[in-house]
Amino acid sequence: MISMKSVNKHFGALHVLQEIDLEVPRGQVVIVLGPSGSGKSTLCRTINRLEPIDSGEIAVDGKVLPAEGKALAALRADVGMVFQSFNLFAHKTILENVMLAPVKVRKKSSADAKKTAYELLERVGIANQADKYPAQLSGGQQQRVAIARALAMNPKVMLFDEPTSALDPEMVNEVLDVMTSLAKEGMTMLVVTHEMGFARKAGDRVLFMADGQIVEDSEPATFFTAPKSERAKDFLGKIL
Ligand code: ATP
Ligand code: MG
Repeated sequence: MISMKSVNKHFGALHVLQEIDLEVPRGQVVIVLGPSGSGKSTLCRTINRLEPIDSGEIAVDGKVLPAEGKALAALRADVGMVFQSFNLFAHKTILENVMLAPVKVRKKSSADAKKTAYELLERVGIANQADKYPAQLSGGQQQRVAIARALAMNPKVMLFDEPTSALDPEMVNEVLDVMTSLAKEGMTMLVVTHEMGFARKAGDRVLFMADGQIVEDSEPATFFTAPKSERAKDFLGKIL
């Protein structure tokens, strides 16, 4: 579902993604771990071309992502992304936030988009907040809206970049629960997270990144109990 071949990316002299090869089959939940600055966010952002790459190839659902243009917009719509900061439109209601892209990009009718938006808000447990504005919701609620908004585009892949890092601890689980149910429904997901409980439970696979490379690629149980590299041992020693 996601295919990266020899992907390289630099920020000036910094080689932030180095010859990344990655195949993520449909329905797989991939957890991305690694120290700060290792390239986790950049990896996510290249998959929907929020960041251009220098060389290599990225395909989603068999379609190679072009560098720009209309085709890019269409393919990008197949990739939902949820960030640490919820990035909701502050001057639009919750309902409008979820309806916007399906109407603008997918050319759905307003009635159709509204119906789907309510279903998705129901699914993430906040249909009763539909007419409020983002600032009137808690962080956990806003992040659930962000997930609903991404799902409204009917994406083939969902990318999560530290979706719970900005939340107060008591709100983390309500967001992880939504992500867990998405994973169970078979969504293909790439999740950068420090939530190790979630990684063990919901993850099919762990990628450990360091210095722009995927240093380990294993099943969660293997990674957490028997990491191979010194870098990973050191990392786990600090967070567990
Ligand atoms: P964190 O755990 O702190 O979120 P990360 O693994 O997500 O880290 P990235 O955000 O991918 O790391 O950054 C990788 C490296 O690229 C870092 O050294 C960072 O400073 C650098 N970097 C990221 N974005 C840019 C940019 N737009 N311009 C220049 N350098 C950047
Ligand atoms: Mg990051």
